[in-house]
Amino acid sequence: MTCQDYKNLMMAYIDGELEAEAKKTFEEHLQSCKECSDEFKEFKQLKQHTDEIKFTEPEERIWEQYWQNVYNRTERATGWILFSIASILLLAYGGFKAIEAIIRDPSVGLILKAALLILIAGAAVLFVSVLRERIYFWKNDRYKDVRR
Ligand SMILES: [Zn+2]
Repeated sequence: MTCQDYKNLMMAYIDGELEAEAKKTFEEHLQSCKECSDEFKEFKQLKQHTDEIKFTEPEERIWEQYWQNVYNRTERATGWILFSIASILLLAYGGFKAIEAIIRDPSVGLILKAALLILIAGAAVLFVSVLRERIYFWKNDRYKDVRR
């Protein structure tokens, strides 16, 4: 075998595709031939470098997508929570105003007053429930991310 033959085997050797005997001859030649041994070192470094590029690039893209997803989800969850809080405040404020007006109005019957109070209380409970559900899902989403 000539030096060129051994050089042609370098790729197969690094990939572990040589049979035991060919591998042994290859290693023996590298020990006795400086030119091939130097070239093999360079070749190995180059191979390592290209492997690193191959491995890091897709992973970076995965992380990018990952953070994008986390950001989107957090943004939406925060939006929902702010929306719920604002709704509760507005409802409570409107409720108090309505109660005040109705209670002060002597022409409104007692049953209607009671019904309105119950309606407002029910709506407030519903909003708190929605808010709690939102927070629950938000937390669960975050745990899912940590686990992944
Ligand atoms: Zn050689």
